[in-house]
Amino acid sequence: MQHIKDNISNILASLRALEAKYQRPAQQTQLLIVSKAQQVASIHAALMSGERNFGENQIQDALPKIQALAQYNIQWHFIGQVQSNKTRAIAEHFSWCQSIDREKIARRLNEQRRAALPPLNVCIQINISREHQKAGIQPTAAASLAKAISHMPRLKLRGLMGIASANCSEAMLIQEFSQLRTLQNELIQQGHALDTLSMGMSQDYQVAIGQGSTMVRIGSAIFKN
Ligand SMILES: *Cc1c(COP(=O)(O)O)cnc(C)c1O
Repeated sequence: MQHIKDNISNILASLRALEAKYQRPAQQTQLLIVSKAQQVASIHAALMSGERNFGENQIQDALPKIQALAQYNIQWHFIGQVQSNKTRAIAEHFSWCQSIDREKIARRLNEQRRAALPPLNVCIQINISREHQKAGIQPTAAASLAKAISHMPRLKLRGLMGIASANCSEAMLIQEFSQLRTLQNELIQQGHALDTLSMGMSQDYQVAIGQGSTMVRIGSAIFKN
């Protein structure tokens, strides 16, 4: 399990180096450790790094892990497609939901987030990929969804999330990521206080940081042997 801690150290070092390379503020890029499909023992090893932000994309897989690791003060991020009948579990057990793609889901999360908890941090997921991929809304629909969420007191709109096309050229990745950054800037100009641009995964996070990512979501590069 030592390899997990080593992989995290290497990735953190690479985040710091990329921030310097692209003249970004130091420490601006946060690491989200994507622990979907991982057992509790592996997450335990990852916790030894001191990192506390973890991402899951299936409620039924996530809940037993959340329960088993309750003592660690982990910030759990939901990053999978949200079904209406899963919003209550997300509202109760997660700190973030990064994959909001319709107003109905936002409304349910807002209603179900208990007053005793801090507001649920949310990102709108935007479809930036030119591949046939159904996750996320079209960029043109973001402004009205952001406006709706801004009136929901139990949600805190933090920014945008996107998944780039897999196996494509660096030029195309740059185009997709910069599209998300541009959209984020437009929403900020419309008055939304957004601080999170969640983009970049194991295969493409270097490019994402060059385009302004503030949160990279990394799974396989951490848990591989
Ligand atoms: C699985 C997943 C990741 C992590 O992907 P890796 O290629 O394993 O780093 C990031 N974001 C989302 C939304 C995912 O589902």
